[in-house]
Amino acid sequence: MKEQNIPYKIYLSEDELPKQWYNLRADMKNKPAPLLSGKTMKPITLEELSEVFCTELAKQELDETTAYFDIPEEILKFYKMYRPAPLTRAYFLEEKLQTPAKIYYKFEGNNTSGSHKLNSAIAQAYYAKKQGLKGVTTETGAGQWGTALSMACSYFDMDCQVYMVKVSYEQKPFRREVMRTYGANVTPSPSTTTEVGKRILAAHPGTNGSLGCAISEAVEAAMKQEGYRYVLGSVLNQVMLHQSIIGLETKAALDKYGITPDIIIGCAGGGSNLGGLIAPFMGEKIRGEKDYRFIAVEPASCPSLTRGTYAYDYCDTGMICPLSKMYTLGSNFMPSASHAGGLRYHGMSSTLSQLYDDGLMEAVSVEQTKVFEAAEMFARVEGTLPAPESSHAIRVAIDEALKCKETGEEKTIVFGLTGTGYFDMFAYERFHNGEMSDYIPTDEEIKEALKNLPKLD
Ligand SMILES: *Cc1c(COP(=O)(O)O)cnc(C)c1O
Repeated sequence: MKEQNIPYKIYLSEDELPKQWYNLRADMKNKPAPLLSGKTMKPITLEELSEVFCTELAKQELDETTAYFDIPEEILKFYKMYRPAPLTRAYFLEEKLQTPAKIYYKFEGNNTSGSHKLNSAIAQAYYAKKQGLKGVTTETGAGQWGTALSMACSYFDMDCQVYMVKVSYEQKPFRREVMRTYGANVTPSPSTTTEVGKRILAAHPGTNGSLGCAISEAVEAAMKQEGYRYVLGSVLNQVMLHQSIIGLETKAALDKYGITPDIIIGCAGGGSNLGGLIAPFMGEKIRGEKDYRFIAVEPASCPSLTRGTYAYDYCDTGMICPLSKMYTLGSNFMPSASHAGGLRYHGMSSTLSQLYDDGLMEAVSVEQTKVFEAAEMFARVEGTLPAPESSHAIRVAIDEALKCKETGEEKTIVFGLTGTGYFDMFAYERFHNGEMSDYIPTDEEIKEALKNLPKLD
């Protein structure tokens, strides 16, 4: 080992747990474009947004001036069950790679739901409870968000209805059963329980489903039932706000030892984990206090930042959610059935989209088998079995560390390890059997899906 002064794990004490979330938009010079109402095509009002989301969350969604939000006491209490999450120095990985780079990772998989999503699920369930609602509806892709929300709803004794992307419902029975253990109702999507589900099934019989399509069903279910609202696990500003806890803890841990990262890397599905991880660092960069490189990593099978278009688009296939200006592949883009279900979303957080468009953040896309090679190496040397989604960040952290080996630079690399891979052994099995495909959409396929972007004057 190269140094002994930095511990293998940097822990924060309970008292050092951040007490506020940080809203990066307050510091952005170019604010992300406002959400548009699908009905009026005008910036959505608090009133309109409150028909779909809890009022307090709708306020957070629209707030681009308040930099810090106090984390309510009840949420802090819940956070203490599984936070602070340690920041780990990847000494073993560095040794394996023989790199002069210093690598750190923030592991968010240390809770039963297995990912960072619980950070926002508990906040959303709390605000729904406070508003006196009976329950919430949502979609889930690989199942991590549904699992997190089930845990959060059961803690506050609320009903939880989950529309689960069909391919995951079938491939991941264990996640489904964890959700049911916490009392949630789980329906495979598209389903015949909603009008939009029926429409999608008629147009695409035998479809594997997609996140965008499950979102449409969940929104419809929320609107149809008295005392229900819809909640979303990523993409939105409110979710990124809650996820800032990841970045704030990471920064507090690094500051304890006077460590300044050069590169911060995260996988990007809807963008909330990466947005949360980079938020306080990006704030410093925007305010001109420090400089960092930020890298968003997406799957080559669903490359919204690297091959999409920056335009207003629907957040869901059924086109009932508000419109967001974002890097998108088109709301009816159907990504191939990759094993990183949490990254199969056609769009990207409007905040990250704006940062990327302003050149403040980079993006790369990586192929699935390369991702699993990195995952396996990481598991063998660092011990932790990573989720396929998280392994996208591992892949690029390794690639950057190998570049340092060539140049001899001792860069400090931090990456987000968003979750555990325990529920993804089917994917690992495919990899081990050499049966994993690397489907990359053609330019024609992307062009075709983008034809349906909404036309705005
Ligand atoms: C959902 C999920 C992601 C994607 O997160 P976003 O915040 O939507 O980008 C990444 N990793 C894991 C383990 C997930 O469950």
